[in-house]
Amino acid sequence: MLIDTHSHLNFKNFEKDYAQVIERSLNYDLKAIINVGSDFKTSKRAIEIASRYEKGVYATVGLHPIYINQKDFDFHSFKKLATSEKVIAIGETGLDYYRNEVQSEKAKQKEIFLKQTGLAYELNLPIILHCRSEKDDPLGAYKEMIEILQNFIKDKNLKGVIHCFQANWKIAKEFIKLGFYLGFTGFVTFTKDEELIEVVKKTPLDRILLETDCPFLAPVPYRGKRCEPWHTKFIAEKIAKIKKLSFQKIAKATTQNAEKLFLSIRFQKA
Ligand SMILES: [Zn+2]
Repeated sequence: MLIDTHSHLNFKNFEKDYAQVIERSLNYDLKAIINVGSDFKTSKRAIEIASRYEKGVYATVGLHPIYINQKDFDFHSFKKLATSEKVIAIGETGLDYYRNEVQSEKAKQKEIFLKQTGLAYELNLPIILHCRSEKDDPLGAYKEMIEILQNFIKDKNLKGVIHCFQANWKIAKEFIKLGFYLGFTGFVTFTKDEELIEVVKKTPLDRILLETDCPFLAPVPYRGKRCEPWHTKFIAEKIAKIKKLSFQKIAKATTQNAEKLFLSIRFQKA
């Protein structure tokens, strides 16, 4: 059984049929789906959806860096949301330098990222990191993020995942050293980036998480369509192929990893 550790059934694209999508996905050998919040509204929506299911559907709360200019990060209201028993992580949060107008925003992005890191630490929850660099400096944001995490983690315990990982092995090693997991999406099924394939090949099995990032990034053979959580299977198949291991082995390891990172903490608390 697989776990989709990063989906957005809380987004508008699934407004009408999220229940069918969840049913389809859970029937399709998915053990759990984690709906990730990207602002206050979608975080709240993720909790609402999860609350309708006894098990198998979870939520995270956070403010994505692309929204920091339109939306405030109010620590206390996010903290209040995060205490819901369905919330199993903080995020997605991080740095997004992809758009051109970002120069003036970098400081604010870092500040809000740190606040969410603090919230994760305070609530003893793992963190889901989003990181996207500028076009002409593809590792820039990753390097800055590693520096922030190194400083933060120096005397604190923080666990998490770098979601939709898209950098090279050198960067991957730094996250692994920090105790983080690497999340791979459908992107690995169609990328021509040899360096990323090398990362998939070299990353130890006990550090890999599967995620669809649905509705985005539908894997081969569903490219261009709306992605759904059950597509996780195609990502697992591709990783199995790259690592020359069986599908079962990838499924078992990644599901264990997801349970260890996200689900054990909540169950301890309960
Ligand atoms: Zn996402």
